[in-house]
Amino acid sequence: TMRESYSSENDSGFKCLNPQLRPIVIVGGHGQLGQLFQRMFELSGYQVRILGRDDWHRADEILHDAGMVVVSVPIHMTEAIIAKLDQLPSDCILTDLTSVKSGPLQAMLEVHQGPVVGLHPMFGPNIPSLAKQVIVYTDGRNPESYQWLLEQFQIWGASLNRISAIEHDQGMTLIQALRHFTSFVYGVHLAEEDPQIEQLMSLSSPIYRLELAMVGRLFAQDAQLYADIIMSAPQNLAMIKRFHHRFGEAIEMLERQDKEAFKQAFGQVESWFGDYAQYFLVESQGLLRQANDSTQR
Ligand code: NAD
Repeated sequence: TMRESYSSENDSGFKCLNPQLRPIVIVGGHGQLGQLFQRMFELSGYQVRILGRDDWHRADEILHDAGMVVVSVPIHMTEAIIAKLDQLPSDCILTDLTSVKSGPLQAMLEVHQGPVVGLHPMFGPNIPSLAKQVIVYTDGRNPESYQWLLEQFQIWGASLNRISAIEHDQGMTLIQALRHFTSFVYGVHLAEEDPQIEQLMSLSSPIYRLELAMVGRLFAQDAQLYADIIMSAPQNLAMIKRFHHRFGEAIEMLERQDKEAFKQAFGQVESWFGDYAQYFLVESQGLLRQANDSTQR
């Protein structure tokens, strides 16, 4: 299959699209995502250097001949660290892997006069290969000088989506901030209600097990990363407050025992989803069948 051929290519290396490139420096490269990109660049024949937390005293030496600098540090430190990169060679590509895009992109354009591009890999560090994974990018400056990089990602198997930083961050407000926050609150609620998880699982349908898995998996990951993602932008809090407000309105409807209002709202949402309601019903049946097969193994 395609997946297998990509993962076997992982072992033997990838074609190098820009063999003339001077060294790539990954700032924060000892971190989870930084290590993944280090491995992929090295497998493609690029020379990679790491600028870690304790390396700033020799930053000039590490950065002076960089062909590309990739910033991959904790979100809340990103803009301050970008601001330190004010001595890069003028043709050096400056890029970042941050889960938010507007602030870091602005900071990169301000500190560096050369090529700039913002990246957001839509995957975590534990993927076996980049086949079919999505990398979102936002153009910054001199796009002609980093087309090879976007093509290099495609050679790794990734698919690319171009978007403006503002649209990206608006989308992430719903896709990341609100969703992770509702999972967080649901987890807090479960912990305080303190039911027996085994009993919940023995009573649950596959769809509830999936829901429990979606929530539980959050708490197997890094609290700092999710705090940073949820609190990364003021519009996230505004969105979460609107959700909270609608939750309150829906509770009032329950207090009134107003089934007519419930049905009316239900119908509005149904028509908002349109054909997707049916599409999602079919798609979730497929997922549930798979989930069911794998839990019975
Ligand atoms: P991480 O905490 O594993 O790695 C961050 C690294 O930065 C660490 O090695 C840390 O020592 C280093 N660091 C801290 N301060 C530094 C400094 N002053 N100078 C240099 N290095 C410093 O985090 P991560 O999960 O790899 O995330 C890195 C970036 O990738 C973040 O912007 C995050 O939004 C983005 N991202 C992460 C994921 C994910 O699932 N992990 C997914 C998409 C995007």
